[in-house]
Amino acid sequence: MRILLTGAAGFLGSHLAERLLREGHQVVGVDNFASGQRRNIAYLSAFPGFQFLEADAARPLEVEGRLDWVMHFASPASPPRYLKLPIETLLVNAEGTRHLLELALAKGARFFLASTSEVYGDPQVHPQPESYWGHVNPIGPRSIYDESKRYAEALTLAYYRTKGIPVRIIRIFNTYGPRMDPEDGRVVTNFITQALQGRPLTIYGQGQQTRSFQYVDDLIEGIRRLMEVDYPEPVNLGNPEEYTMLELARLVLELTGSSSPLVYEPLPQDDPKQRRPDIARAQNLLGWRPKVPVREGLARTIAYFREILFS
Ligand code: NAD
Ligand code: UDP
Repeated sequence: MRILLTGAAGFLGSHLAERLLREGHQVVGVDNFASGQRRNIAYLSAFPGFQFLEADAARPLEVEGRLDWVMHFASPASPPRYLKLPIETLLVNAEGTRHLLELALAKGARFFLASTSEVYGDPQVHPQPESYWGHVNPIGPRSIYDESKRYAEALTLAYYRTKGIPVRIIRIFNTYGPRMDPEDGRVVTNFITQALQGRPLTIYGQGQQTRSFQYVDDLIEGIRRLMEVDYPEPVNLGNPEEYTMLELARLVLELTGSSSPLVYEPLPQDDPKQRRPDIARAQNLLGWRPKVPVREGLARTIAYFREILFS
């Protein structure tokens, strides 16, 4: 297959590109390095099937040749990064999705959208099934991400319903692993880099809010399985293992052997209090469930960060 993948320089995009390339497919990676890393493109460039286009995925792309899939993963994904790039985030998820749907239509390709558990906002239903409509502040600071992803889902399904284009939508829950940008400001990268560098771990609020953490390989396996099934509606992909941020901090301290202290900082506005996926749909549809326990995934991620921070 020949696959156009936006966000290829990012954490998830680079893992997905690698998996597809190792299977022998051709990947046209697109990225403008808004939150991506050049080292990921350097790594992918060693595969003969990889081609790179440095471009803004919010604007129409000129791509020569056939395409079997258009996969849209470009968007700043960590809260500090998207809060710094509010208009760009809105545009890549709204205008970008529209242009990429048009590209898929023109090429006779299938379309794959990387959406997010953030479409559930600060959820009042727990855990979150795909049927839950969410609890999102439409004008709060995080709305630029949440609402543009909700719009991207609506647009994707509108193209499916009116133009018959085959589509897939995944709602990704907090995913971590090697190749995350140590500076991206997400909780896993913050805690690991702080612990390894002997700096205090920054707990926002009282640390009682929860998240459920999925190792990247499990996500990529779920994505590959969904590509093989004809199912247009959103599918949650996440690991239901749920932790408070205090529990996560203690686990990172234990696994790194660090004696860094904890410091408490203000909770960001509209920070969801709890998050855990209901993965029944993915289990039934794909025969999929996450395999890597959080302890093991964190240990692998810590090993990666040790290497890039200290070698
Ligand atoms: P990331 O920041 O590492 O990667 C995103 C990539 O998109 C970066 O390489 C960035 O440079 C690129 N990009 C952003 N705007 C662009 C633009 N206008 N044009 C071209 N490239 C652009 O983040 P990630 O964790 O790899 O996330 C990838 C996708 O998955 C995003 O759409 C994100 O919303 C979604 N997602 C990720 C998670 C997670 O836990 N990692 C959770 C939910 C959803
Ligand atoms: N968080 C934290 N300390 C940090 C970074 C984040 O306590 O240094 C908290 C944040 O307030 C949120 C959770 O960890 O409740 C997950 O944050 P992240 O930015 O990783 O992703 P989110 O799930 O909010 O998109």
